[in-house]
Amino acid sequence: MKTIMSVLIYVELDNGSIKKTSLEAVAYGAKVAEKTGGQAVVLALGKAENTALEIAGQYGAAKVLHAAAAELEHENSLAYANALVQAATQEGSKIIILSKSGLGDAMAARAAAKLKAGIVSGVTALPETDGGFKVTRSIFTGKAFATTEIRSDIKVLVVRKNAIELDEAGLTGGNAAVEAFQPTLRDSDFTASVVSVEKADSELSLTEAEIIVSGGRGMKGPEHWQPLIDLAKALGAATGCSKPVSDLDWRPHHEHIGQTGIKVAPSLYIACGISGAIQHLAGVNGSKCIVVINKDPEAPFFKAADYGIVGDVFEILPKLTEAAKSL
Ligand code: FAD
Repeated sequence: MKTIMSVLIYVELDNGSIKKTSLEAVAYGAKVAEKTGGQAVVLALGKAENTALEIAGQYGAAKVLHAAAAELEHENSLAYANALVQAATQEGSKIIILSKSGLGDAMAARAAAKLKAGIVSGVTALPETDGGFKVTRSIFTGKAFATTEIRSDIKVLVVRKNAIELDEAGLTGGNAAVEAFQPTLRDSDFTASVVSVEKADSELSLTEAEIIVSGGRGMKGPEHWQPLIDLAKALGAATGCSKPVSDLDWRPHHEHIGQTGIKVAPSLYIACGISGAIQHLAGVNGSKCIVVINKDPEAPFFKAADYGIVGDVFEILPKLTEAAKSL
């Protein structure tokens, strides 16, 4: 029987469902499989119903390997990377794809070392496969792009959010078959492991959010945050903030965006009273569209904005909220 070369895509789960960033990675992997004459195979680790995994087929996956062992319930980059390597070996995968996140990067590095594979993290577009395997990634916190050629037999790519348009990927409508997968787990993979997880009270994760409304010191204090929260609610958006805002405890630390905080890549980022220091921009320049509201027309953030509103954030936010509610 002829073996078809497979592209293996690891998907992260959230409460048993495939995260949106991982579905993008599946669509990306399916396009790579199409280009390289292979098939897209998905690997999911941890508890999930088959119905929640089958949808990977709609993004182009031929099948899903699912390891549901109790030890894999919580993220563990050692054990997960070990399982990824075993799945890649079983499937004969020459290309392994993960979505960019702390876990994705940690697994990718470990798996690449074990497989002696070339690795590129922060990939922003489909690879060029004519005359070598070349991938583009963002460097200098998104200020420039570098093209890297991977020459090893096995290649590991960590893909950034928005590297592929999901619409452009085209959903096939079919569900993928789910197969049980049983990696050999070693005690040495569990020298440190998560014993419990407590979710933060914000419902929307910043890294998954399609829209983020974010506030800076221009919001004047925690007691003035309501207009920003109202707009976020009206848009179904997550809320974020600049570093000084979280340092001052105006907002919780998990909302801090930037070089030293969370890096986000929503479709729409609305910055309210944020000056646009390079350290903040480093965390938001993967956004598809940036709207800046600032009363200072010289604020640096306007240079990075797709749309700018010069004015008082406390006058503008209620108007935007009204407009959003009437949509
Ligand atoms: P400010 O710079 O004080 O800007 C407030 C803005 O609000 C101004 O532009 C002002 O015109 C505007 N404004 C005021 N009132 C109104 C109003 N009524 N309506 C409209 N606009 C108004 N920062 C980050 O955000 N994330 C990071 O990860 C980060 N990491 C850093 C790492 C290092 C090593 C260093 C040195 C700094 C880092 N910083 C980071 C800090 C960064 O340099 C800036 O100091 C910070 O981003 C500024 O925050 P801000 O824009 O909220 O405040």
